[in-house]
Amino acid sequence: MDRIYLDYAATTPVDPRVLNAMLPFFSEMFGNPSSVHRYGQQAEAAVDFARETVASILNCRPDEVIFTSCGSESDNLALRGAALAAREKTGANWMLTARTEHHAVSRTVEQLVEHYGFAVEWLEVDEYGRVHPETVEKAICHATALVSVMYANNEIGSLNPIKEIAEICHRHGVLFHTDAVQAAAYLPVDVQSLGADLLSLGAHKFYGPKGAGALYVRKGTPLVPTQTGGGQEFGLRAGTHSVPYIVGFAEALRLTAAEREQRIAYVKPLRERILGAVLEEIPDSRITGHPESRLPNHASFAFKDVDGNLLLTLLDAAGFACSSGSACKTGNPEPSDVLTNLGLPRDWALGSLRVTLGIGTTPAHVDAFLKTLPSLVQQARGLNRRHLHLLQVQV
Ligand SMILES: *Cc1c(COP(=O)(O)O)cnc(C)c1O
Repeated sequence: MDRIYLDYAATTPVDPRVLNAMLPFFSEMFGNPSSVHRYGQQAEAAVDFARETVASILNCRPDEVIFTSCGSESDNLALRGAALAAREKTGANWMLTARTEHHAVSRTVEQLVEHYGFAVEWLEVDEYGRVHPETVEKAICHATALVSVMYANNEIGSLNPIKEIAEICHRHGVLFHTDAVQAAAYLPVDVQSLGADLLSLGAHKFYGPKGAGALYVRKGTPLVPTQTGGGQEFGLRAGTHSVPYIVGFAEALRLTAAEREQRIAYVKPLRERILGAVLEEIPDSRITGHPESRLPNHASFAFKDVDGNLLLTLLDAAGFACSSGSACKTGNPEPSDVLTNLGLPRDWALGSLRVTLGIGTTPAHVDAFLKTLPSLVQQARGLNRRHLHLLQVQV
């Protein structure tokens, strides 16, 4: 049976062009960029070239690009690094962020509160999971160490007004971080026009390898390194450079920028079909996240009285790989922090489904999915966990 992958927000396959760019750096040009000899120089040149490529797309200086191992690490370095440095400088110890952030941000903030003596104000979001600039304006003050608001939400696809939020932060002299890990696959990441001081990226969300990330750090932004050791990455991130992954990161980002319009034009009509057909054909269904101001490849839904995890299992058995907003895989499932914060009633929030498309999605995939989904939702409605359990006992 052909499996159909509709989970590009979770990860993407490595583009063959990216893989080709990476391959020589595993065993031919294997030098350590920190070595003095020719092997080292060759590897260093590759890292420098990758950094320049990334800088040209972010519209920043090469020495403002810090290579990391993933989006989560970039978020960790940005939040912990900037919070500690800001407090040292000014005594500010408040973090402003939202519960709709990826856990790489929200759990890092929770750790700063529990173990480092920081305080957090969780910013309110609207019914689409968006942070409004006025909310930031009201909460920000001289004691704010850092504001962190994601560019695009991974679970529900909604976009935040990053430019407007960044302007408010700057007017108050407060640093602004944005998690652009999900956004970068489709939205421009020009840090000058966005106005972010810190911006996180992860390669595997845009056809690059897992294990490669980057953090943009605006020149002059004080940051305490969270990984210490050798002086790599301008002293901000110790560890021997992973040359093939850095090369892969840069090539994936370069291709994403070059092909952005093309990719949007391809996935968006397919996504529109999914949004329209699901609402029309499945009773008691709704879109989660904003209907228009959302990532072009992203469709997400809530179905009333459906166990989202059960629906995923039925979809998988039918050959479709999708995702739910619910964090739990087994046991008593709880709706995710994101869905809970949208104000969805529990009987809706438990039945979430995320369908995310990519360059490998075909119209035939979408047809097959739309043909199958309504009956599976119906089946899931008739079968709750208790029934399943009874069935297993009978067998
Ligand atoms: C995937 C993702 C992350 C984590 O990135 P990794 O590279 O998987 O560590 C962080 N934030 C958002 C919004 C994401 O979508």
